[in-house]
Amino acid sequence: MTISVEQARERVLSRCRRLEPESASMLEALGRVLAEDIRSDIDISPFDNSAMDGYAVRAVSVADASREHPVTLSIVSYIAAGDSSEEEVGEGQAARIMTGAPMPKGADSVVMVEHTEPGERSSMPGGTVRVMRAARVGENIRYRGEEVKAKEAVLSRGDVVGAPAVGLLASTGHESAPVYRRPRVAVLSTGDELVEVTEKPGPGKIRNSNSYSISAQVLEAGGLPLRYPVVPDEPVATREALARAAGEADFIIASGGVSAGDLDFVRPVLEEMGELEFFKVSMRPGNPQTMGSIEGVPFFGLPGNPTSTFVGFEIFVRPALRFMQGHRELFRPMCIATLEQDVKKKPDKRYYLRGRVRRSDEGRLLASLSGGQSSALLGAAHRGNCLLVLPQGETFFGAGTEVETMRLDMEEGTP
Ligand code: AMP
Ligand code: MG
Repeated sequence: MTISVEQARERVLSRCRRLEPESASMLEALGRVLAEDIRSDIDISPFDNSAMDGYAVRAVSVADASREHPVTLSIVSYIAAGDSSEEEVGEGQAARIMTGAPMPKGADSVVMVEHTEPGERSSMPGGTVRVMRAARVGENIRYRGEEVKAKEAVLSRGDVVGAPAVGLLASTGHESAPVYRRPRVAVLSTGDELVEVTEKPGPGKIRNSNSYSISAQVLEAGGLPLRYPVVPDEPVATREALARAAGEADFIIASGGVSAGDLDFVRPVLEEMGELEFFKVSMRPGNPQTMGSIEGVPFFGLPGNPTSTFVGFEIFVRPALRFMQGHRELFRPMCIATLEQDVKKKPDKRYYLRGRVRRSDEGRLLASLSGGQSSALLGAAHRGNCLLVLPQGETFFGAGTEVETMRLDMEEGTP
């Protein structure tokens, strides 16, 4: 039975589970999903401090200050970042203070150095400063606990760790964080025609490129690829390879061997060893997408043609691997773009054509094909940045028509 892409996506996810968390060092956690809330051990900021280089004052002392009528204050202390000051600032007084230095007692405002002039004597303690602008209470002060208070959550379960989150982990004392584990993904290529990349293919042979392109997609999706030796078109070897993969991996990908050819053994072996969920999806390229599980390990059989493999991975496998890693956003963003050329298709299925979107001078999104659309050729996928999604039932899309594009150059969750 042929099912829709949406049905197939749902069924793939239903066979996947979120992996258990592990502790990862801050930098290994980058791009991954937090499995728990992260609490701070201290207030951030830990103390009230100055946001500017200048003078800590009582706002009342400079209430009437202006460029025409500067107010002279006597300097009672000098506080640099890293210092701690005991000296209190009274009315008519100021503490010379640097960015990040703790606010002295008594002061409730910081006047930027740009709004002052040195007084007659030095602008060090014992000297004076002329303030040329009134200050508000709280101005240029970063208060203790403004970002987060001790014991409160600074990051939440489900958050993706980006560079700012790494900074927050560091400032709250976490060298490592609990994140969902990366899936180990078995990558199997089937086909008697396949030779290693280092070999010059003999008659009838081709290089095993899928094993590498799929592994690259696994890495891009946050998984850890386990590349298996080529599986010959033969049931016993197929069975052995799948059994090994089910014992070692969290997700199994095979390429090739899922069509209706006499030597396509992946589906029959899957049915025999595990459970078949579906084997045909109404889409082009890549009609024979084969999904199921072996010993509870999700299995996805991608068609062998390199571009079908690439597209099938993007549509089905990448969201599944993201789900397993705890991501809330599973699908690539979809954007409407205006076709720059005529595109024809057969009405039978939904098409995913390799294309490129660009911005016109007026800021409109324009889309065109990025090369020949044979599913045996990868060049158009390489030059493209999106898939043009053309609905089932229709045959002609003229230049100027608006079409949906699935953006491969944008992260999931991008609005
Ligand atoms: P299949 O799905 O096994 O019928 O293969 C479909 C097409 O994809 C055939 O032309 C294969 O030679 C090609 N193909 C299969 N596996 C690979 C692979 N690992 N690398 C490159 N091309 C492949
Ligand atoms: Mg084959």
